[in-house]
Amino acid sequence: MTFRTLDDAPKDLGDLAGKTALVRVDFNVPMEDGRVTDDTRLRVALPTINKLRDAGAKVALLAHFDRPKGERVPSMSLKPVVEPLETLLGAPVRFAEDCVGDEAKAVLADLDPGGVVLLENVRFHKGEEKNDPAFAQQLADLGDLYVNDAFSAAHRAHASTEGVAHLIPAYAGESMRRELDALDAALGNPQKPVLGIVGGSKVSTKLDLLQNLVDKLDRLAIGGGMANTFLHAQGVDIGGSLCEKDLADTARAIMEEARAKGCELLLPVDVVVAQEIKPGVEAGVRALDRIAPEDKILDAGPETTARLKRAMDLSKTLIWNGPLGVFEVPPFDTATVEAARHAAELTKAGKLVAVAGGGDTVAALNHAGVSDDMTFVSTAGGAFLEWMEGKPLPGVEALKR
Ligand code: ADP
Ligand code: MG
Repeated sequence: MTFRTLDDAPKDLGDLAGKTALVRVDFNVPMEDGRVTDDTRLRVALPTINKLRDAGAKVALLAHFDRPKGERVPSMSLKPVVEPLETLLGAPVRFAEDCVGDEAKAVLADLDPGGVVLLENVRFHKGEEKNDPAFAQQLADLGDLYVNDAFSAAHRAHASTEGVAHLIPAYAGESMRRELDALDAALGNPQKPVLGIVGGSKVSTKLDLLQNLVDKLDRLAIGGGMANTFLHAQGVDIGGSLCEKDLADTARAIMEEARAKGCELLLPVDVVVAQEIKPGVEAGVRALDRIAPEDKILDAGPETTARLKRAMDLSKTLIWNGPLGVFEVPPFDTATVEAARHAAELTKAGKLVAVAGGGDTVAALNHAGVSDDMTFVSTAGGAFLEWMEGKPLPGVEALKR
């Protein structure tokens, strides 16, 4: 992929010492009673911050928090981030009560080279989400260069993610670069054969994704609740399972498209059913022609899981979104956990590039204890899904050469 990175900055701008880098980060962290309860997103930003500090740049961190909708909402201040960030950096972090204007400029003017300032919530300004050019210019006025390290916000064309990138020299930060490289290795320019796994509850939320994937993959395994809709569309009686019957035609069209494009679809050949979703409830394995009217399909069966593992063995690349069953409620986590552990083993052995993402998918991989063993796990949520759907992300497009 051809986007500008921090390594290009000195070529364009010369020595960065004393220059101000406006760095868009994702500090939309979990908070309770004004305290940060999980600092993962702060850690993700450290490589970029440290690289710029080492170069002697002044670092102005720009972020949104929650949804203040253009109003100054005190409970949505970014101030509680200062202390945990100082701890992680081992250096003081100044705070500017506003992300633009005289207040921000004054703090920056007073900052030593290598110093860090956190700017107040950019969404306190209406111009942010409107991508207002005047507001983008106010942001641009603060910096000599702009660095975007917030892939998770890159699907939005906001002033701090898109508008400002056109006004001053713009670069991908280290985390953004890592994420884009991983995504490129999974779908943009992958080693073949490529296997996709798409699970989750509903087809309707993942139509664009399925359509894009059948176009690009060698094999696509469909699991979770959405597989029920495909089984139903093939005439399988799925009993009382979750199903979007009105999408049967759509499911058939996707199957036809896959055939035409030479993408092998892997649908469940057996399933695990129960009569309710409750921990420890009596569950049974069923062949597809043995599903009773009161049965709910809640997980993939053992033969389906075995076939999926074999498909992984035949692949060089895996891209995964969506759990294969109701993984939150054991024993319906079995297929998801088994598949995840197999992918992790292959990845550790250097046989597979495995990239996964999606809110519940991240939770499922953590539950299986394999997140660190995958090649890359994206926590970017909406941005990851839009990228999997093949849509251009405005925040990334703005960083292209
Ligand atoms: P992600 O957040 O990773 O994109 P989704 O939100 O699409 O994933 O789907 C996750 C949800 O799908 C989980 O809450 C899981 O319980 C549910 N799910 C998986 N399989 C089934 C099933 N057979 N029936 C009902 N819900 C299911
Ligand atoms: Mg979800």
